[in-house]
Amino acid sequence: MSEPSRDTIFALSSGRPPAAIAVIRIAGPRARAALEALGVKVPEPRRVGLARFRDAASGEVIDEGLVLFFEAAKSEVGEDTAELQPHGGRAIIAALLAALGRVEGLRPAEAGEFTRRAFENGKLDLTEVEGLADLVMAETEGQRRQAYRQMRGALGKQAEAWRERLIKALALVEARIDFSDEGDVPEDLLAPAVAIANELAAEIAGALADGQRGERLREGMVVAIAGPPNAGKSTLLNRIARREAAIVSPYAGTTRDVIEVHLDLGGLPVTLLDTAGIRETDDLVELEGVRRAQARAADADLVLWVVDASDAFNARTSTPRSGKSESRQSRWLIRNKSDLVQGFRDDAPGAAIPGSPEPKRRSNDSLNVMVNNQLTERCESKGHMSEPQFNVSAETGAGIPGLLSALEGHASGFLAGAESALITRARHRRALEDAAAALRRAAGRPVAEREDLLAEELRLAAQALGRLTGRVDVEDILDVIFRDFCIGK
Ligand code: GDP
Repeated sequence: MSEPSRDTIFALSSGRPPAAIAVIRIAGPRARAALEALGVKVPEPRRVGLARFRDAASGEVIDEGLVLFFEAAKSEVGEDTAELQPHGGRAIIAALLAALGRVEGLRPAEAGEFTRRAFENGKLDLTEVEGLADLVMAETEGQRRQAYRQMRGALGKQAEAWRERLIKALALVEARIDFSDEGDVPEDLLAPAVAIANELAAEIAGALADGQRGERLREGMVVAIAGPPNAGKSTLLNRIARREAAIVSPYAGTTRDVIEVHLDLGGLPVTLLDTAGIRETDDLVELEGVRRAQARAADADLVLWVVDASDAFNARTSTPRSGKSESRQSRWLIRNKSDLVQGFRDDAPGAAIPGSPEPKRRSNDSLNVMVNNQLTERCESKGHMSEPQFNVSAETGAGIPGLLSALEGHASGFLAGAESALITRARHRRALEDAAAALRRAAGRPVAEREDLLAEELRLAAQALGRLTGRVDVEDILDVIFRDFCIGK
């Protein structure tokens, strides 16, 4: 498929220098010529060679290292591909890239261009390209497994198999249309086509009924830390992330924007959001922060509503409005600063038992205790009675292990079975929903009895599946997908 006039592209495919070794990739019709220009004897295809890399102009040796060559047919890109493995020093890489840039017909690759060529050359379908992108970006074991499955064609192969069966059904209907005048075509061509449409509709509906777990795993469970200013949200985030990700300050409202920390809890991805102190303000910048914070918190899968258990004023603040349906968004009450409240047991694990009784207090007549009881009542009267509650100290770390293990448990329930879900992106879901809708129309009256309408619906369903794998209508989505790639991929 690759035209002979195609540029040969090159890029550093390994990570940021300096490193022990680097990988420079060259792909295109002049990959072999590029090696020769560097004074390298091209090794046997798929055999490792050892070579000195020279500057073509001066003949000076830049470095030495391993070299590989793949013929187009047996390459990942689908075009002649060479790989240099010099030492990973900055000057070496700069000199080699400059030397390659001077070879005729070569130019630096754009982000994702190697993979884009692999797609254009039919080496990968679009779902596999997406899987590859996700594999490179995967931060946890769960995401890695999911991405690897997708890269190996879990969804793409299934979609292709569905499409092939659809084409068979379509062929039956078209045979019936083409020969309808001749009178000797069996009448029952439509019934088997409708039967196939029915089967496919059910199978695709089955894949769609996955509770969106695949998308959830890919994106991670989003946990918003929200609550009144100075409740200790940033401190809590830092304590959990074990690094200074958010600004901790004794002054209210210093965290104006949403800060994100990615966690790996037992192999599952959890994104913690520290929302700006949600409070009434006239400051425009702060207002924007509050608006964004509320929007993110509203969209989160779980909200940790943090209150200062030692502060009488927190009862005046309001809980954020929820964007998600109540059934989808869980909310936990985190009573922070337990170290300041007499009687809170510092060593107590986070009280993860829903509706568990409050910890015993030595003193039960303080204002703080009263206010917190009011707050709890208020939350409970809003129907949050069964919500887990945790007593923690972000400052001392008391109760944090209990909170984390509860988070891990929640994530594993939230993402259960996600690795085997076929659908990992909204794009996949849309395409399959389109296909399923067309198939349902195809199998229903009056379409199932009208060959022209039936053919049209089957074609639409096949097209939707074709979009999924990138066989049809790809131009507008390609840029979106390859935008996520880095140079050299
Ligand atoms: P945010 O506005 O909710 O993000 O609150 P910060 O994390 O900035 O904390 C506000 C103040 O409370 C800071 O001075 C923190 O050091 C303090 N703080 C946070 N958590 C605790 C805690 O568990 N115990 C005590 N004693 N102080 C805390």
